[in-house]
Amino acid sequence: MAVKTVRSIKPFTPQLVYIEPNALEYPLGVELKKKFEKMGLEIRSTTSHNQVRNIPGDNDLQKYRNAKSTLVVGVRKTLKFDTSKPSAEYAIPLATGCMGHCQYCYLQTTMGSKPYIRTYVNIDEILDTADKYMAEREPEITRFEAACTSDIVGIDHLTHSLKKTIEHFGERKYGKLRFVTKYHHVDHLLDANHRGKTRFRFSINADYVIRNFEHGTSPLVDRIGAAEKVARAGYPLGFIVAPIYLHENWKDGYKEMFEILDRKLAKDARDDITFEFIQHRFTKPAKKVIQKNYPMTKLELDEEKRKYKWGKYGIGKYVYQTDEQEDIKDTLYGYMEKYFPNAKIEYFT
Ligand code: SF4
Repeated sequence: MAVKTVRSIKPFTPQLVYIEPNALEYPLGVELKKKFEKMGLEIRSTTSHNQVRNIPGDNDLQKYRNAKSTLVVGVRKTLKFDTSKPSAEYAIPLATGCMGHCQYCYLQTTMGSKPYIRTYVNIDEILDTADKYMAEREPEITRFEAACTSDIVGIDHLTHSLKKTIEHFGERKYGKLRFVTKYHHVDHLLDANHRGKTRFRFSINADYVIRNFEHGTSPLVDRIGAAEKVARAGYPLGFIVAPIYLHENWKDGYKEMFEILDRKLAKDARDDITFEFIQHRFTKPAKKVIQKNYPMTKLELDEEKRKYKWGKYGIGKYVYQTDEQEDIKDTLYGYMEKYFPNAKIEYFT
């Protein structure tokens, strides 16, 4: 099966920018305002992000799409970090929202009626808070995940707040940073002084899944090209295969994904690689939102075909049947061991 040629995507440029007045009390807020003015973007001011109600559009669908290309420059008020199991102890909030259109993205349910992208300019306060969390657990290492509420790499070429965070962790003894992305715009991060404290992960999937369900994100080959650059820059590297989605010829699709990875990733860029495997799942509320935001979706969301797994707050999720999960594990672990015998499996969920 040959992978069809897919066009690369350009770095994200917002169609509309809102700036909260108190964001201009921070150097990054002032810098971003100047930058966006120079770029000729439409800038509006708002008193609070909750007042960003006038996203243009004739109906909910249009508003949803326009919101995903709207950037709000604001201040993070809540400095209590959420937990982020299983990949880290805490989520570090640098931004929320994403310009991508992955039909299974859980931000659709967590961000509800506010799907616009919000970047936080009080980065020093956020990093100070991270230091306090580290101090509480010393001498244990505390891991922070920077991609829980956005695809942070996808917007960082504009803000550089992730770059600053990487360098902050480079200087910390008891902290580690990690994040995952579906974007390949990594060049500005290659010279960051990371000192091996940041694990740079890429979300990868079978070509069929990316083409059908991950619109507005970088094609697989571009993500892998970026992974190679990142590995060469000395970052510990990781891949999250997610969501693993059963489709016609899925075994061939995932085999091909591993073959491309093997072909493109230089042998000397494989010293420290991890894999995380996450099967596709959905909740009843998520199914409703997906069908509203993507009415033509081909995503299989049939509860009858799935196994019900009890979840937090009484909202259970629908995962694959036990025998299917075993088949997924055997197949994907097999490919991983064949092509990347020295890589480490972090978990399957
Ligand atoms: Fe959601 Fe990640 Fe896709 Fe963005 S790239 S829409 S955060 S799944």
